[in-house]
Amino acid sequence: MQTDIAIIGGGISGLSLAAALQAAGADFHLFEARERFGGRILCTGADKLQGYDLGPSWFWPGQPGMAALIRAAGLNAYPQYSRGNLVYEEMPGEVRQLNFSTMEGALRVENGMGSLIRYLISRSDKQRLTLNTALTKVRYLPGETHCWQLTLNRAGEQQYVKAKAVVLAIPPRVIAKTVQFDPPLAEHALQSLQAIPTWMGRFTKVIAEYETPFWRDMNLSGDGISRSGPLQEIHDASLPDTPAGALFGFIQQLPRGTGSEALRQQVTDQLVRLFGAQAASPLSISFQNWSEQKYSATDEDWREPLAGHPQYGLPDSLETLASQGLLFTATEMAHQSGGLLEGALEAADDGLMQLRALGLVN
Ligand SMILES: Cc1cc2nc3c(=O)[nH]c(=O)nc-3n(C[C@H](O)[C@H](O)[C@H](O)COP(=O)(O)OP(=O)(O)OC[C@H]3O[C@@H](n4cnc5c(N)ncnc54)[C@H](O)[C@@H]3O)c2cc1C
Repeated sequence: MQTDIAIIGGGISGLSLAAALQAAGADFHLFEARERFGGRILCTGADKLQGYDLGPSWFWPGQPGMAALIRAAGLNAYPQYSRGNLVYEEMPGEVRQLNFSTMEGALRVENGMGSLIRYLISRSDKQRLTLNTALTKVRYLPGETHCWQLTLNRAGEQQYVKAKAVVLAIPPRVIAKTVQFDPPLAEHALQSLQAIPTWMGRFTKVIAEYETPFWRDMNLSGDGISRSGPLQEIHDASLPDTPAGALFGFIQQLPRGTGSEALRQQVTDQLVRLFGAQAASPLSISFQNWSEQKYSATDEDWREPLAGHPQYGLPDSLETLASQGLLFTATEMAHQSGGLLEGALEAADDGLMQLRALGLVN
């Protein structure tokens, strides 16, 4: 197979670049390793693209890329629920109420962030988007027009694709771990990929669904902070226009080997401590441990705590590869909003500009 532009990774970055290339009439093909699109965007519904968010839930005012995408998709946004008190747990069962909100001003998207992925998928020809196909090797063939040869693994079978440019829309550490380069990347380039932490790659996100958002009647916003765990930060995850309610929480570093049932029990016990007896009977508890997802994060992400939001951006050592047509567009490569959804869109936009500079897009 031969294409002008091969995009690797069907998260929001890869898919938004695909949609832009489709609109510009460019020749491209996108390959996604998993059996689903969305990457770190994942919802609880059957198609994984609607329902409660197991990945990102928020965007913020002043993010032009997200505002434009939501507008183009014709979706509604609504504010994160934040009325009422926050519950704070210092020691197990030692719970105080505080009158502030940690996420006031954050915005959510109707039906969950998966709606954006559904929209982006609809903007590309179906035959240009391929699932279940993981990049394993990138080979540079100087002197040829299609100077990149990709080896892809589809259900154990190797496939070869030649392209004029390759866009790696996958987290930097995942590139370093899962993709082989021939000739090998310069040592400092490889080290810079390994040094970039995957944003939220350490976290487990848990959703507890209830018949109603009962905490709202107790003047509680659903916000919680706990030093006892397992959930360290909790928020209201309820969807508008449904009677059900939901809470979600983050666990920074779930101990390896924690069983699903043990986790569900620990979470339920904690929610009872924080929100009272009504929390004892969730309709369901869903979770996603992102640190165990080999196409999202690596062991280093699980082991190394982050002191704060890293200063992301494309390292100098990788910038020079753009002139040969090897581009990097995951959110971690964005200079302004790196790590966030907005950063993924920013990095995809930068990728589009570089492809224009290479003469592959009008
Ligand atoms: C729990 C959690 C909460 C978050 N909360 C927020 C939030 O509220 N707001 C916010 O702005 N951001 C948030 N984020 C971050 C946000 O999810 C990311 O910024 C964004 O989804 C990254 O998109 P991406 O396309 O750059 O990468 P990804 O979504 O990681 O997409 C990369 C894709 O590449 C694929 N892939 C990997 N390796 C290969 C390979 N070898 N071959 C082929 N395909 C491959 C993967 O399967 C994946 O589909 C959160 C993330 C998590 C995990």
